[in-house]
Amino acid sequence: MGSGQVTSSVSSGSYDFQGKHVTVAGLGVSGVPAAKVLHGLGARVTVVNDGDDARARAQAAELEALGITVRLGDGATLPEGTELIVTAPGWKPDKPLFTAAAEADVPIWGDVELAWRLRGPDAAPWLAVTGTNGKTTTVQMLASILKAAGLRTAAVGNIGVSLLDAVLGEEEYSDLDVLAVELSSYQLHWAPSLRAHSAAVLNLAPDHLDWHGSMEAYAADKGRIYEGNRVACVYNVADKLTEDLVREADVEEGCRAVGFTLGTPGPSQLGVVDGILVDRAFVENRHKNAQELAEVSDVNPPAPHNIANALAAAALARAFGVPASAVRDGLRAFTPDAHRIAHVADLDEVAYVDDSKATNTHAAEASLAAYESIVWIAGGLAKGATFDELVTKSAKRLRGVVLIGADRALIREALARHAPEVPVVDVDRTDTGAMLQAVTEAKRLAVAGDTVLLAPACASMDMFTNYNKRGDAFAQAVRELGA
Ligand code: ADP
Repeated sequence: MGSGQVTSSVSSGSYDFQGKHVTVAGLGVSGVPAAKVLHGLGARVTVVNDGDDARARAQAAELEALGITVRLGDGATLPEGTELIVTAPGWKPDKPLFTAAAEADVPIWGDVELAWRLRGPDAAPWLAVTGTNGKTTTVQMLASILKAAGLRTAAVGNIGVSLLDAVLGEEEYSDLDVLAVELSSYQLHWAPSLRAHSAAVLNLAPDHLDWHGSMEAYAADKGRIYEGNRVACVYNVADKLTEDLVREADVEEGCRAVGFTLGTPGPSQLGVVDGILVDRAFVENRHKNAQELAEVSDVNPPAPHNIANALAAAALARAFGVPASAVRDGLRAFTPDAHRIAHVADLDEVAYVDDSKATNTHAAEASLAAYESIVWIAGGLAKGATFDELVTKSAKRLRGVVLIGADRALIREALARHAPEVPVVDVDRTDTGAMLQAVTEAKRLAVAGDTVLLAPACASMDMFTNYNKRGDAFAQAVRELGA
């Protein structure tokens, strides 16, 4: 909750917080507002936090001034008498605090669970999206479509807008008709009673496995998004794991499984026919009829993975009863966030594209599949990933590769194994001039008609503050070469 003011409109749903000992695990984006809200509802709040730096102290001082107890530098010990824990989503389930909570039968909620429980009786329903990649884009497309239909909505959740803000009716979020909610696997892990109107899992590839413990546990947490869905569980026809999750979910009577595909859709699916996005799920007599929604060229950018995102967004919007024309208008009005397949410039008939947000191999694979002939700039922090599958699948599209960053040897070795004929240039410096050198090398390798694609398949923090800065450095280097 941005202002931190608890208004009288806050309801506590069916849970009575009055006098309850609630421990908030973790200060920060979700912890501070959660502590304030709980305190406002009459709970006796203790905040525990691992760190004890200047920022934590400032936040602690703010909370203590309200009468909230804060323990800095001790996130492991369960405070005496705790009846409920509200945790920051990123806290790992194997933390000693949670082990102690489990032993004492203390329930653990995340920020999403808290928001879900606090929403009022007439609250806007949630259309929820998760997946390994494409969440932010899909949620933004969905919000754009809902707005085009004249609905009051907002894109919230993991996208950077706290669900507590949205649910507690901060000015801009009051009176909404429906929420477009992005949920991470961490948030889903800690949200046991969430029940969305409809939900989509876009795709599932190994990610954050150190946190979840295994691929099965990661998938199970993602699958939680389908629990209790009322109208539609939207899955990716090309990703069987997502369909399996629908099958395993306990949903409301009458809720439908709706697939999206880049191919011709079957009944109860959305798909693509002759460059047109079509709906065979939310039409009368889906065995015979199909409804045209939009053209592929209405999707920005019209890369295959992004068309899949558009279809998922369309499926959720259609589940909410949005007309076909709003899908088209909403997709046309949508512009992607920076560093997601962003066309930077054309130099000597070579396109330069910034997909710095491709921070894992699954994202980079989708990105590489969008172009025919590529000079690929890759590398950074691999986060335990292997590159054999990515290189094998993409080898035929590679004109050349320029490698940057700490773990570039891992990609070089995979290239040597599966694409030995592809020229590889290693940029072994990590200073501020590294990206200019990388783009200069890429320009040298490229021929007219090629795309120079920054899709690193790695995190950026070895060389840059974040993926935004990495993309900015790429764009700056392209501009310098074009000047
Ligand atoms: P998220 O919020 O899940 O991180 P974004 O919409 O921010 O997803 O996209 C992140 C990156 O993932 C993009 O830059 C692109 O490389 C890749 N991507 C986007 N959509 C998909 C998809 N449907 N499948 C695979 N990769 C995707």
